[in-house]
Amino acid sequence: MRAVKNSIVYMTFDQLHLIKPILDALRTEGYTTPTPIQQQAIPVLLEGKDLLGCAQTGTGKTAAFAIPILQLMHKQRLEGKEQNKRYIRALVLTPTRELAIQIEESFSAYGRHCGFRHLTVFGGVSQNPQTDALHRGIDILVATPGRLLDLMDQGYINLKHIEYFVLDEADRMLDMGFVHDVKKIIAKLPLHRQSLFFSATMPKEIVSLANSILKNPVKVEVTPPSSTVDKIEQSIYFVGRKDKRLLLADILQDKNIKTALVFTRTKHGADKVAYDLHKKGIKSAAIHGNKSQNARQNALNSFKEGKIRVLVATDIAARGIDVDNLSHVFNFDLPNIAETYVHRIGRTARAGASGTAISFCDEEEKEYLYDIQKLIGKKIDVVEEHNYPLSKYVETAPPPRDRQQHGPRKNNGQARSGHGHSRSGQGQPRTSQGGGSGNRSGKRGFGKPKSGSR
Ligand code: AMP
Repeated sequence: MRAVKNSIVYMTFDQLHLIKPILDALRTEGYTTPTPIQQQAIPVLLEGKDLLGCAQTGTGKTAAFAIPILQLMHKQRLEGKEQNKRYIRALVLTPTRELAIQIEESFSAYGRHCGFRHLTVFGGVSQNPQTDALHRGIDILVATPGRLLDLMDQGYINLKHIEYFVLDEADRMLDMGFVHDVKKIIAKLPLHRQSLFFSATMPKEIVSLANSILKNPVKVEVTPPSSTVDKIEQSIYFVGRKDKRLLLADILQDKNIKTALVFTRTKHGADKVAYDLHKKGIKSAAIHGNKSQNARQNALNSFKEGKIRVLVATDIAARGIDVDNLSHVFNFDLPNIAETYVHRIGRTARAGASGTAISFCDEEEKEYLYDIQKLIGKKIDVVEEHNYPLSKYVETAPPPRDRQQHGPRKNNGQARSGHGHSRSGQGQPRTSQGGGSGNRSGKRGFGKPKSGSR
């Protein structure tokens, strides 16, 4: 496998030998310089090679695959290689509806002068408009796996003319349990095709899935986190779990916070936060997998149009949400996977803009903070002056004897699923935990917790 290194060179789109209709479209979009993944992937793809892309949303990866596919299809048309009838020649598989919509919007933007027909198919909405469009004929299809299989089973879609296949966010597909569906779809693709595979992470299962799809791929890897993360102003508030909503509302009183994406760990949590903010007169909405597609799209549109200031989301629902000029990201709950922190905050400070990431850390999340700081290679500034310091919460906690009687998880109603006991160092007397005095200064939170289960 040939590997292309992550090098950032100043260049223009003209240097990538793109055709005029695409260059014109990119100019309309206001793009001047290709991003690193675009610089590396576009030439390889224009040569007709398979590609293994290690890149996440926010790197410009959609354009990195959409532009060469459009150009290759356009060239075939000019050379008269196209059949008279329209067939689906390019298929992009992606895990979420939001991503599917955004990918189709990208094809539509970059291909505005190319005259191809594209369609997005995803579940949770009526299939009739999708089947009507399929009847009229489609060149490029963007799909989530479940609905695509449904439509294939019903005979509306046949993949035998696919020449370009993109598997987007493969690791997320795996996380969401789509891997069998993906394999079924791949089995229906023609053997002779150009395949592109994107994943933010490359665990073993992903590598073997990639190997089963790609032929002599060129590997392209971009690591946006460090450069992006450096531009983002990051801070952390140590706060008791129950006080997080009050603290959020407090901080959001600052009108300089124009747009805020707030991440919660659970769907229920997202609803509660949005409801609370709304009650306090802060216009907000929650999006997550339990909401209908329409509700999610409406919330997203209202946010993009500035009708609401705050969008509260879970990681999965927020995946692929692309909002220009997002000023603030809040980690209402710290993620238990450090990379997720980088993904989340990378949504602000896009395209050279500045951004702010504010994180809340409660007693049980200190170890997550430790992992995050290890990953980003620096300590996040602690905001010590605020109305709900963690020390206040600890002081009102029941005495140690009580805690032992009721069991550590029941302490102050703070029990949460998904946290191993060892992560919070519970069961120890509160005075020796370092939670109270240590967090008055906040700085103790950086040290590796003593629970020592890792
Ligand atoms: P993606 O990683 O594909 O989700 O893209 C992230 C964002 O970057 C989207 O808003 C794109 O419109 C934008 N973008 C992609 N390529 C470029 C570029 N070369 N110059 C400026 N913005 C870009």
